[in-house]
Amino acid sequence: ALSAAGDGAPAFFSPDMQAKATTFLRMEAELRRALDDGGLVLWLQPKVSLDGLGLTEAAEALVRLQCPDGKLLPPGAFIGVAETTGLIRELSRWVVEEACRLLARWRDAGTGLPRLAVNVSAHDLEEDDFADALLAALARHSLPGNALELELTETTLFAMTDRGLATLTRLRERGMRIAMDDFGTGYSTLSYLHRLPIDVLKIDRAFVQEVHAHPDRAGITRAIISLATTLGLELVAEGIEAEAEAAFLADLGVAIGQGYLYARPMPEAELMAWLDATRPRSMTGAS
Ligand code: C2E
Ligand code: MG
Ligand code: MG
Ligand code: MG
Repeated sequence: ALSAAGDGAPAFFSPDMQAKATTFLRMEAELRRALDDGGLVLWLQPKVSLDGLGLTEAAEALVRLQCPDGKLLPPGAFIGVAETTGLIRELSRWVVEEACRLLARWRDAGTGLPRLAVNVSAHDLEEDDFADALLAALARHSLPGNALELELTETTLFAMTDRGLATLTRLRERGMRIAMDDFGTGYSTLSYLHRLPIDVLKIDRAFVQEVHAHPDRAGITRAIISLATTLGLELVAEGIEAEAEAAFLADLGVAIGQGYLYARPMPEAELMAWLDATRPRSMTGAS
């Protein structure tokens, strides 16, 4: 690149790159601070059965970063920085510990949910001691293996080494469920999928959006569903925003849905209130 001064001298950093580097460093500092003084928070989004009863059996934990000025940053703003800097290790451990802490509290209170899904990065599974750390967190809170579900994107799973896959297999043997997130956006083939240690396919929001009105999306979704059925995998549709989408997907045989139609990700206290408000009505079958 040529320098912005226009003097023709080569420059390693254009003004744009400089700005990006500054943003990156700021975010790294912000993330370190958050990891040090409790600035991370898990928001939770319910997973709802699409069978008409609308029961909530689990939720997904989605991390947020609280800035000192009160702003709440979504994971898209800092997960990449965490991965590049290696801070993802500490972040993922915090997420797992916090998820276990919430699950144990709900168990002790006799309310809440029995299972949480957490999102993990490729980096995590390539670490020697990640599985041990996970199992230790469960043990610390006297939780069974199936209290946690791991969500990994299709791209992450596709790029995983044999060592990472062996770690997944080990966790699965302990009862943990493994979900392939954002399915349909990567490159998985049938032959590849059937060798993976997974239990759940999460259909990407790109196919779910307006699925009833787009024959191409409906076609792909049908293919995904038949694939999942052949392989004995559970199906979850993410990003459901409209009744018509939910009805269409339920008709095709998708068991579980997640999306703004039911609830946005929310803090724990709000989830408890939401569960209270939705439970009695779903039990009587009214909507
Ligand atoms: P994901 O795991 O695929 O999570 C779904 C994302 O879609 C979430 O965004 C959620 O808020 C959003 N979403 C849910 N329902 C709807 C809907 O009906 N419409 C629309 N438009 N969006 C919906 P979020 O919370 O910003 O998370 C983004 C991504 O960040 C996640 O995608 C996940 O890959 C990653 N992530 C979140 N938490 C963690 C974490 O603790 N660790 C790691 N490594 N990654 C995380
Ligand atoms: Mg996810
Ligand atoms: Mg997803
Ligand atoms: Mg997604």
